[in-house]
Amino acid sequence: MNAPAGAATTLAPYAAHDASSRGRRHAEPDPEYRGQFQRDRDRIIHSNAFRRLVYKTQVFVNHEGDLYRTRITHSLEVSQIARTIARALGLHETLTEAICLAHDLGHTPFGHAGQDALNECMRDYGGFEHNLQSLRVVDELEERYAEFPGLNLTFETREGILKHCSLPNARLLGDVGERFIRREQPGLEAQLANLADEIAYNNHDVDDGLRAGLIQVEEVAQVTLFAREYESVASRYPQAPPRRKVHETIRRMIDRIVQDVIRTTTASLAAAAPRSIDEVRRHGSRLVLMSEDVRREHLELKQFLRERVYRHYRVLRMTTKARRVLHELFDVLMKDTALLPDEHRDAAQRAEARDGATGRARVVADYVAGMTDRYALLEHRRLFYPEARS
Ligand code: MG
Repeated sequence: MNAPAGAATTLAPYAAHDASSRGRRHAEPDPEYRGQFQRDRDRIIHSNAFRRLVYKTQVFVNHEGDLYRTRITHSLEVSQIARTIARALGLHETLTEAICLAHDLGHTPFGHAGQDALNECMRDYGGFEHNLQSLRVVDELEERYAEFPGLNLTFETREGILKHCSLPNARLLGDVGERFIRREQPGLEAQLANLADEIAYNNHDVDDGLRAGLIQVEEVAQVTLFAREYESVASRYPQAPPRRKVHETIRRMIDRIVQDVIRTTTASLAAAAPRSIDEVRRHGSRLVLMSEDVRREHLELKQFLRERVYRHYRVLRMTTKARRVLHELFDVLMKDTALLPDEHRDAAQRAEARDGATGRARVVADYVAGMTDRYALLEHRRLFYPEARS
C-alpha cells in the first residue's frame, strides 16, 4: 500500500532515533509501551509550567480578549506546523512535538516585555534568558517525580529547548552547552522547532493584530507575503466576508512557507547527505531552511509587525505597565524574601547560604518568571495595595 503524500513511513537516518538517544541526566528504566521522546512529550504536557502557558501571553495580555493567542495555543500551533514538516522529511515527529510544546515553558508573564524587565532586574546576578529558563524548568524546577528534580528529559529534547545560549552560560551547562562552545548545530528536529516558532508567530500576530484593530488589511496588504495570497483570495472569492478572506490568506501564507521549507530542506539534506544526527550536528550550518526568496518575504513581514504591531502605542502602553509590575515585584521580593510564600522563601534562604545575593536573586526570578499574567497582577496588588487581601 502506498503511504499518503507527505507521510514518511520510516525515520530517515539523519533523524533522531529513540534507540540512539544520548539519554537522560538521571538513569531510569526504559518506558514499556512508549518511545523515549513520547515519554518526554507526555511529561511536558503533565507539567505545571505547561498548564501555566494558558495564562501567559506574548503580545496581548490575557484579559484583553479570549480570542488572542496565548502561549499555549501558540505552542500548539508551532507544534502542528513543525509536525507536518517533520513527517514530510522523515524526522522524528514526536521529538519535534516535544520540543515545540516545551519551547516557551520558561517564559515570564507579559511576553517579551516581561523577559526584558526580568533580565534588567537580574543584571547583576547573571541575567535572565527565557531559553535558559525553559531548560531550568525541565531540569530543576518542576517537582513531579520522587527520584529526581525536574522532568528528566532526554538530551535531544533539552538540546532543542536551548535555542541560544551565551558562552559563559554554555560553560556552566555541561552536555547541552557544548555545542555553543564547539559551534555545532542541534539535531534537525530542534532546527525545525526553531523555524516553526517563527512561522507560527509571524502569521498569527498578523491575525491578532488585525483582530485587535492595531493594523488594517490595507496596511498589511503592502507586505509581499500577505499581498500575494490576499489578492488571489480576493479575486477568486470576491463575495467572501472580510474575516474569511483574512483567514484564508493567512492559511495560504502558512501553507506556502511550509511547502517552501519542505522543498528547500529536502534539497539541502540531499546536498549535505548527513548519515546520522551526529553528522547533522557537525555540519557547518543549519539544514532546515526557507528558500532565499521566502526568507526575504518572511523578514519583510517580521519588520512590518515590529513597526506596526509591537510598537503600536496601545501595545507599548501595555508593555510599559508590564515592565513596571515586574520590576516592582522583583525589587520588593528581592529586598525582603520573608514576603515570599513559604517554599520559595525557604529555597531563597538555601540559595543565599550557597551563593549569596546571586542565589537569592535567582530564586526570586524563578518565582516571578513562573507567574502567569493574571497572577503577576494579583500578586502586585497584594504587595502594593493595602486594601488587597494578602
Ligand atoms: Mg515561541
